[in-house]
Amino acid sequence: MSLIVQKFGGTSVANTERIFNVADIVTKTYAAGNDVVVVVSAQGDTTDEFIEKANAINPHASKREMDMLLTAGEQISASLLAMAIEKLGYPVVSLLGWQAGFQTPSAYGSARIKKVKADRIQKEIDKKNIVIVTGFQGINRYGDMTTLGRGGSDTSAVAIAATMHADLCQIYTDVDGVYTADPRKVPNAKKLNVISYDEMLELATLGAQVLNNRSVEMAKKYNIELEVISSLTRQPGTIVKEEAKMEKMLISGVAKDNDVARVSIIGVPDKPGLAFKIFSKLAAKKVNVDIILQSVGRDNTKDIAFTVPQNMLEEAKSAVDEYARVIGAQNVVYDPDVCKVSIVGAGMETHPGVAAEMFEALFEANINIQMISTSEIKVSVLLAREDADSAVTAIHNKFFGTND
Ligand code: ADP
Ligand code: ASP
Ligand code: MG
Repeated sequence: MSLIVQKFGGTSVANTERIFNVADIVTKTYAAGNDVVVVVSAQGDTTDEFIEKANAINPHASKREMDMLLTAGEQISASLLAMAIEKLGYPVVSLLGWQAGFQTPSAYGSARIKKVKADRIQKEIDKKNIVIVTGFQGINRYGDMTTLGRGGSDTSAVAIAATMHADLCQIYTDVDGVYTADPRKVPNAKKLNVISYDEMLELATLGAQVLNNRSVEMAKKYNIELEVISSLTRQPGTIVKEEAKMEKMLISGVAKDNDVARVSIIGVPDKPGLAFKIFSKLAAKKVNVDIILQSVGRDNTKDIAFTVPQNMLEEAKSAVDEYARVIGAQNVVYDPDVCKVSIVGAGMETHPGVAAEMFEALFEANINIQMISTSEIKVSVLLAREDADSAVTAIHNKFFGTND
């Protein structure tokens, strides 16, 4: 007997027909003799709609009340799916995050999972129930509900799989696997049969939302093999697993992230310690800094540019504006209309020239690069937001061709 965790995203449970489709997948898995734990997301765009409703009432609502609202979305899908499974004549129970033992710190809106105390889930499995758990949520030590951050249901599923030593963790979604680029934006993107944790982690972190990056991090840590699969076509999906067992791909994919803004401090006096001070001020405000570029000093000044997430631009401004004045920098420029486009591939470690090929693709498409950042398995460039989609297509075509 195997324990299988199956997670279904918003599109997979968007309406009655889709819920019965999921009920069919789950009950078939159960009828084949497996224990099944199901994790569900909120239906369709429910979470976005809730956020809109909240903004209409109070755009500065506390994070606690936001989580109180957002957790409702997953509760609706879990109960409706349980009702569908009841109707098909199978034993089932739905549980909220706190009932399923998801313990988190108090960081409303972006809580990490500290621990899953899975006794209740186990008890229900022992009673031969199919167990449905709301994704994306937990409880803090004050007994208040928390959410794990957008896309967090993937992490809920992996956390259950890790805690309960599941034999398989399937992430059902609206595409039939992980592709070399977002298949909705790049029609000739190719499906990958398998991808390593490290490459998937980079792709997810760099903007491929098909898997939440924390879920991949956790899957790697506990060595949980994931399958990304479509609930609609039910074809075999993409396996995410340890690299040791597979061939290194030169490039496994292209990703795009619009959640970036650029800060440029122009004419910083060229003397030691100033970069340290600027970035300490940003760290004190808990601003995550990503790509950093410093020009070579000229005429006793230099320029320092860096990127931050869009929602941290205000904090960045409050840290930088005043300090730039104090140190006598000439000017600070903020640009929220940028995007980061990246290529990821474990093979580039041993193949020089990959970055050059990427830059050539951008040159041929007449796209200007603002900043560059590299690691062993990725190259990222910062571009004007309006160039994002054509850049992804040009780079993808360069590495994967325009058609099969
Ligand atoms: P779910 O609601 O099931 O969690 P998401 O919307 O979070 O689904 O993730 C699935 C979406 O991720 C796809 O519809 C696709 O547009 C997008 N996506 C982005 N990059 C990729 C990629 N490289 N491979 C597959 N899908 C991708
Ligand atoms: N419903 C949440 C969201 O839209 C969590 C998830 O879907 O994973 O972000
Ligand atoms: Mg998702």
